[in-house]
Amino acid sequence: MSTAQARGADHFVIVGGGTAGWMAAACLARLLLRTPGPQKVSLVESEDIPTIGVGEATVPSIQDMLRYLNIDEADFVDATDATYKLAIRFRDWSGPGSDFFHGFGELGPTIDNLPLFQHWLREKIAGAPVPPLSDLSMSAQLALHNRFAKPTTNGNSPLYMAGYAYHFDAGKVAQYLRGYAEAKGVRRIEGRIIEVTQDDQGDIAGLRLADGREIAGDFFIDCSGFAGLLIGKTLGSDYEDWSHWLPCDRAVAMPTQGLRPIAPYTLVTARAAGWTWRIPLLSRLGNGYVYASRFCDDETARQTLTDAVDSAPVAEPRLLRFTPGRRRHPWLRNCLSLGLASGFLEPLESTSIHLIFANLFRFFDYFPRTVDCATLSQGFNARSVREIEEIRDFLILHYKASPRRDTDFWRYVTGMDIPDSLSAKSEVFRQQGKLFADYYDFFKPASWMAIYDGLGVVPDAADPLAALVPQDKARAILRDVTEGIRQAALTAPTHEAALSALLRRA
Ligand code: FAD
Repeated sequence: MSTAQARGADHFVIVGGGTAGWMAAACLARLLLRTPGPQKVSLVESEDIPTIGVGEATVPSIQDMLRYLNIDEADFVDATDATYKLAIRFRDWSGPGSDFFHGFGELGPTIDNLPLFQHWLREKIAGAPVPPLSDLSMSAQLALHNRFAKPTTNGNSPLYMAGYAYHFDAGKVAQYLRGYAEAKGVRRIEGRIIEVTQDDQGDIAGLRLADGREIAGDFFIDCSGFAGLLIGKTLGSDYEDWSHWLPCDRAVAMPTQGLRPIAPYTLVTARAAGWTWRIPLLSRLGNGYVYASRFCDDETARQTLTDAVDSAPVAEPRLLRFTPGRRRHPWLRNCLSLGLASGFLEPLESTSIHLIFANLFRFFDYFPRTVDCATLSQGFNARSVREIEEIRDFLILHYKASPRRDTDFWRYVTGMDIPDSLSAKSEVFRQQGKLFADYYDFFKPASWMAIYDGLGVVPDAADPLAALVPQDKARAILRDVTEGIRQAALTAPTHEAALSALLRRA
């Protein structure tokens, strides 16, 4: 179909009403429905097909979505049972008793274009006494002391190096965004899709529902979850399976009663065949065990989770199966896939909801005028794949670099082959401590450094540029920065005081 003949992309039909579907609906409504025009947005979902809805931990980019939608933070936190998240705390990843933080934000300031942690690394490699790396992270220090403060733009306060996100009830987030989207004119259609029809070019033409209704559209957004109803089953965009690198393929999830104080971090604890999470919400704890079915049966997993929780269950354990990987073509013809329909990586670094939003905004960059999308989708797909592959490599690092060898699972993940992209990155770090980030990389050098150090990986040498700053000067800066961060953490309000202050505004 040539561009001249192609019909306009005027009616957007979203399939699925989980987190992905309602995020897409809210953001499209904000983008398209402000001014009268031909564009309209519909969302089809079925109450008979449950959502996954266990997505509870996020990363700081979630704030971009709230800002874009002009949503008031206090209102959002109140409606979604949310708490603040400053960091992920890793327990037992380098063996029993080990404990480290991956905090959001920076790991110290930069000195002459080089991050302070490179000077810290230089001292460590030289055998000089150094504080724990997390003393350089404003967010990790706040998290450690159970306190919370927002980043400032004031460069005189170490808080400018902090970052934060939220823990929330993903089901409530979908409900909240549904209210937002419907108020802005998105039409919700309840019904089970039994057939997806295509035109003679192969583009998607419409949906047939179980009650016989037909929904026609111009452009379709597949948010149908693992089913991948349009992108996979109809258009045949196959799924690249990454389970040889990320063998965890199941999770058992179980909420329990809330505990005080409410921690401002996600706790992830390494286990015999994977890891457990503990996510504090305002009214309860989210808990789960992500495990590899090759190394652990479901009953053992259920028991591991039951033994690991610290408070009384408020619901039965729920088992979830998944295949780590991605759609080869996340955007194909007149169909964009988002959320679980486009791929899934285990939630160790809470990246799924970020990817929904990142791809939605990337889609806006490539927004189609007509349904003839072949060229636009190529650019979109290349960038989208680049981002998820970088996240994949970062997740693999958590396993590959661990010194654990105590179970078949840990022997497998520490001995497995890794993608060339990760080998190359790791080798550069090993040789001279260098860490790079490209524009599309979600995880910046501070994140990679936190994981390398947490798992006990020390490079042969620090970045040679560190030697350009006199050692005395670097030591003095290191001392002043860690002391400034410590003071700022200890004088910040507790997490619960910060939440109460926020909720008084709601
Ligand atoms: P779903 O929630 O599965 O929604 C699919 C929708 O499609 C439903 O509304 C369903 O009714 C509809 N549908 C399907 N078939 C049909 C049909 N035939 N007719 C009509 N409607 C249909 N992400 C994070 O960012 N942080 C986390 O901490 C996190 N933890 C996770 C833990 C686990 C164990 C898992 C599995 C995922 C986790 N995620 C996390 C991912 C997160 O849950 C998902 O990315 C997010 O919920 C998006 O899901 P979705 O909307 O794509 O799919």
